Amino acid sequence: MFWRVVLFLLCQLLAAAMVWSFDSGPQRLLFAALAALGASYLWLLFDALRGWRLLRWLRSGDTSHIPLGSGFWGEVFDRVRKLVRLRDRSVLESDKRLQEFLSALQASPNGVLLLDQEGRIEWLNQTAASHFGLDAGRDMLQHLGNLVRDPAFAAYFAARDYRQDVVMQGRASSSAIPVKLSVHMHPYGEGRSLLLSRDITALEQAEAMRRDFVANVSHEIRTPLTVLAGFVETLQSLRLDEEERERYLGLMAVQAQRMQTLVSDLLTLSRLEGSPPPPAQEWHTVGTLMTQCKQEAQALSALLWGHAQELQFTLEAPVEIAGSLSELHSAMSNLIGNAVRYSAPDKAIAVRWSVQPHGGAIFSVRDQGQGIAPEHIPRLTERFYRVDRSRSRETGGTGLGLAIVKHVAQRHGAELLIDSAPGKGSCFSISFTAQRVRIAAEHPLES
Ligand code: ADP
Repeated sequence: MFWRVVLFLLCQLLAAAMVWSFDSGPQRLLFAALAALGASYLWLLFDALRGWRLLRWLRSGDTSHIPLGSGFWGEVFDRVRKLVRLRDRSVLESDKRLQEFLSALQASPNGVLLLDQEGRIEWLNQTAASHFGLDAGRDMLQHLGNLVRDPAFAAYFAARDYRQDVVMQGRASSSAIPVKLSVHMHPYGEGRSLLLSRDITALEQAEAMRRDFVANVSHEIRTPLTVLAGFVETLQSLRLDEEERERYLGLMAVQAQRMQTLVSDLLTLSRLEGSPPPPAQEWHTVGTLMTQCKQEAQALSALLWGHAQELQFTLEAPVEIAGSLSELHSAMSNLIGNAVRYSAPDKAIAVRWSVQPHGGAIFSVRDQGQGIAPEHIPRLTERFYRVDRSRSRETGGTGLGLAIVKHVAQRHGAELLIDSAPGKGSCFSISFTAQRVRIAAEHPLES
């Protein structure tokens, strides 16, 4: 501004000097008018130049190099600069917030997919990409209907009735490992849609297991119930002598006992699932448990085979286990009971508690029975899974014994190991870690 005023005054002075040099009055007047006009144009030229610089800078959009100025134009530049900086900062903040929002959606365990009015993919997270087998880079702005060809989804997408979700196969699904997805579209904005996908494989499996379980329990209870009802009917309709009546009542007692055992095993399982983990501070002498199990095994063996099998009980050291006494007893007696039931009456059974060098302990039951084919071994701990169905039933099995043992082992931080081969017998063992094992000072039981 200062220089503009100086230049303006200099021009005026120069014009006055020139006017002074003219002789005639009209000439002086004309020149003075022209000089005044020239000076005004010069003033305007300065303004036009500054205005043009501002316009050029605004058009360039380069906010990093802001032109400086002074005076009136300086203030204009200053105010524009402040406004631009304010806008830049708010754009940056919005961008940051958007990125945070997208990161949160990326971290979602559910698939999230945004579609435009035409059903084209605008954005998707990694979970959605793996659910539908899409590629975030390649499939952007592609029509979702062309990429996801599952018939259930195609019908849902085409019907445009999004009140409920649809269940479809995931892209990674195979016959060996099925993957089930629940997909739900939510319309929003002007014709846009938000698609949410959820992996419900575990949920579906749990539901299928629950259905199987109910069907199995009903079946297991119905069989002895039908037999019982038959006997009751016979007793009611026929005139039987005392001996026959006794025989029927004996058979009825067996069926009632079978149902009782089943209900008791079911209750044990539900207790194991629903109760807190067994205490790690309550120590139990396994010697006492061994004595109890031995008596039970002898009784069972005598009941089944008419005589007690050869049972070798060995306790390598006075082991103590931390946990639940009833659960430990249940696991041990289940394994010993199976060995008695699934091996020949003349074959010996070896039951042993051995101490490991690293401080843990192993409880093992080895029999010389029929053994188990390898394909059955991974499924033995499933509820109601039986290899030899008739043998299990004849000997009073419920099909829940090994499921109980597995639960007890897990709850005690232990592992159930099965080593068996057809014709070679089986060895079932529970391996306890050092945290739950200690050796008592005194040997409580001489084996
Ligand atoms: P169950 O009450 O039928 O014995 P379990 O869960 O205890 O049920 O065992 C599941 C199946 O595993 C049994 O039906 C049987 O076929 C098989 N099994 C368990 N223990 C033995 C064993 N020691 N020898 C051979 N087969 C066994």
